[in-house]
Amino acid sequence: MERQRIALLGSTGSIGEQTLDIVRENSNLFEIVTLTAHSNWKRLAAQAVEFNADSVVIADERYYTPLKESLADTDIKVYAGQSAVAQVAAEQNVDVVVNALVGYAGLIPTVEAIKRSKKIALANKETLVVGGETVMKLAEQYRSPILPIDSEHSAIFQCLIGERSPLRRLIITCSGGSLRDLPIEALKDVTPEQALKHPQWTMGAKITIDSSTLVNKGFEVIEAKWLFGLDADKISVIQHPQSVVHSMVEFEDGAIKAQLGTPDMHMPISFALMYPNRAVRDEHFSFADNPTLTFEEVNRIKYPALDIAYDVLRRGGTAACTMNGSNEVAVAAFLAHKCGYLDIVRSIEYALEHAQFISNPTLEDYAAADIESRRLAQQYLKITE
Ligand code: NDP
Ligand code: MG
Repeated sequence: MERQRIALLGSTGSIGEQTLDIVRENSNLFEIVTLTAHSNWKRLAAQAVEFNADSVVIADERYYTPLKESLADTDIKVYAGQSAVAQVAAEQNVDVVVNALVGYAGLIPTVEAIKRSKKIALANKETLVVGGETVMKLAEQYRSPILPIDSEHSAIFQCLIGERSPLRRLIITCSGGSLRDLPIEALKDVTPEQALKHPQWTMGAKITIDSSTLVNKGFEVIEAKWLFGLDADKISVIQHPQSVVHSMVEFEDGAIKAQLGTPDMHMPISFALMYPNRAVRDEHFSFADNPTLTFEEVNRIKYPALDIAYDVLRRGGTAACTMNGSNEVAVAAFLAHKCGYLDIVRSIEYALEHAQFISNPTLEDYAAADIESRRLAQQYLKITE
């Protein structure tokens, strides 16, 4: 059997590294064609040598020279710049694009890969938050399969295999993030260090903060709408602190299917790469060691971001793009100690209040809405970058 040729975008990140673990475990099935990073050129170079990549891209052009020099005695091609990331994703010798980029930067590479009918293993949920309607239409037009890596969506996808009846609802589980045991009054003093300690998952900094505000859960509701074609009122969220039930699907007869297991992203990553087959992995969940699974309603007062996400989903157009861009700026500012924790959601609200709204956006409109939302968040936070 021919090996699947992979372009891995964001290879130095949390999902990127775990994707390389799967490739390492299954070198008979996969080969790496291209790897990309933003600034971590040292790790990128080491990965490229280990996996004998054809090419690498460093998105931040300032690191082109050290990367190029470190690969000088190999025949690995070295490119730099944001547009090169999208270019390598669309190369002819790529079968599957794993998009493990973070933020808005993931949108155009996904689009370019879809236009070449690649299989997309999608971790970058912002692709669908920002441009879900356009992206799903293109994916249909170019017959480009989109396989979710996000654990909740992978769970739902697995629950739907073999089903053809209409759904009553999707039930997305939510760990509650790093601050779930903190009283609401304490949120105003939360530091980045505190918010970065996620109880179940070790992930990149941005998604860990998004999990603590529940912006991430809101984004997952939006992501679910586009992947599975259900309206907002058929997508519910339930807090499940153990993160063992990865999400559920309820049918019209009242039957509910769930996908369970250890919280470990290797599973959804390998499923996205191997579907309709499964990997053989040394992973054994013990019910006896996890005797208690609990469920509770999300506190919508403590976590206003979830309702904001439902709201922008119902509004459609550029609203979710505005939410995403302002959140990216505010999260970066919070991580850099330039604003308080509660300013994250306030920046989103401010941007949504003041942004232009376009109901049937093109890709150019998303780009403009993204820029505007970043400017508005900066204005609210009184910062320059
Ligand atoms: P990380 O921050 O760990 O990694 C991001 C990767 O993208 C790195 O390789 C980084 O390079 C690169 N990158 C960052 N910004 C840019 C940019 N502007 N242009 C090009 N490349 C860039 O993120 P995660 O792996 O945690 O998350 C990736 C995506 O997967 C996100 O959309 C997240 O929401 C989603 N996801 C993640 C989960 C997880 O467990 N981590 C779970 C479910 C979804 P460099 O290292 O050089 O900075
Ligand atoms: Mg998730």
